[in-house]
Amino acid sequence: MQKDIANVCIRCGKTRIVTKTWKEYVGTSTVTYTTTACPDQACQKIVDKKLAAMREKRELFLGKRIQAIQAWRRSKPHS
Ligand SMILES: [Zn+2]
Repeated sequence: MQKDIANVCIRCGKTRIVTKTWKEYVGTSTVTYTTTACPDQACQKIVDKKLAAMREKRELFLGKRIQAIQAWRRSKPHS
């Protein structure tokens, strides 16, 4: 994990701001989590939508792949 890497918005390139920081105990150590957002709220909304659409597409794609593999396995005679 690298610190101090510029966290910029994928859409407008502005430096993203930390909106939330919280700590969680993982085993015996504490991990700090941060949530960042684009300072431009309208832009952030678009980015959120884009990411959600991408995730949906990927899940759909993976689902189709799994179905295809299962169909292929079924079509093969068992040896
Ligand atoms: Zn932005």
